[in-house]
Amino acid sequence: MKVIDTINQAKKTVFSFELLPPLKGNDVSRLHRTIESLTEFDPKYINITTHRDEVEFKELPNGKIEKRTVRKRPGTVAVAAAIQHKYGIPVVPHILCGGFTRSETEHVLIDLNFLGINNVLALRGDGLKGQHVFQPTPGGNANANELVKQIKDLGKGKYLEEDLKNNSPLDFCIGVAAYPEKHFESPNMEQDMLYLKQKVDEGADYIVTQMFFDNQVYYNFVNRCREMGITVPIIPGIKPINLKNQLTVLPKIFSIDLPQDLSKELAKCKNNDDARRVGTEWAIYQSKDLVANNVPSLHIYTYGISDNVSEIIKAAF
Ligand code: FAD
Repeated sequence: MKVIDTINQAKKTVFSFELLPPLKGNDVSRLHRTIESLTEFDPKYINITTHRDEVEFKELPNGKIEKRTVRKRPGTVAVAAAIQHKYGIPVVPHILCGGFTRSETEHVLIDLNFLGINNVLALRGDGLKGQHVFQPTPGGNANANELVKQIKDLGKGKYLEEDLKNNSPLDFCIGVAAYPEKHFESPNMEQDMLYLKQKVDEGADYIVTQMFFDNQVYYNFVNRCREMGITVPIIPGIKPINLKNQLTVLPKIFSIDLPQDLSKELAKCKNNDDARRVGTEWAIYQSKDLVANNVPSLHIYTYGISDNVSEIIKAAF
């Protein structure tokens, strides 16, 4: 089932969680354990992240530095298909511009269609480590709006090879990302929102937000979107903090603020267990309020950790 139909038909807030494919060398048993611990709460769909190649520098015994390219978490399509077929829960694999040519993207979308997957989250992805600004892959999409257009074109049977005849359209429900506290590269919020509107105008069915820790930031953002004519559902992203160092790491990586009440409590934590307790309580407090305000769905950034997620879902619904 398409995410947009699930949301439109639901009488109350639903929820999904985000899983990362296993690190290369690991098996999928941990992913299965995470899913199995959450199925009793009836997640309506599961997001599967995608990770582009990374550049690493390794010092060799002779003192020289070797540059190499590695993909640490391959297998998004396979993991997504395995989950959807094993549990019967729709999956939403993430599709990136960065690291992929348009032709490779088309092949992934063809594979997903063959596998019975008709939901995707269309994202630009970040630059490679050490790149100050995102560099589009030669032959790839430069921004998420172009990726949305490519996916919508396939929905009309328009493949990259223009002379291809009798084409089957590939029909996907498309989600896109948004940043209630602004994307870190954007010169200002207004410009960022104009680009968001462009993604929706190209055909995105719904929006998922970056994590935020102050619900008022989300409500203000939704109001601004509505004022500028963005009418699609806007799904809030919730990240349960589970490590003490996330007090400083999350603002740095995601360009977001932690409210003073939360940061004060985290600063007092003696260890990760304390931080996890504070983070779970904060996520419950946020989720209860969002559910009470009838948000369409909660998108929970789990990073493969499930016991705090089950606590949050139990308390919020
Ligand atoms: P875009 O919408 O392309 O925006 C990127 C920047 O470019 C913004 O500053 C925007 O204002 C600007 N911009 C947008 N359109 C244009 C245009 N046409 N011309 C010029 N400038 C433009 N990353 C991963 O690598 N893997 C994942 O699985 C993943 N999952 C995510 C899930 C969610 C819910 C979210 C919120 C983010 C996720 N990310 C993931 C991170 C995401 O890839 C980064 O935040 C990335 O920097 C921006 O992606 P985007 O799709 O928002 O890009």
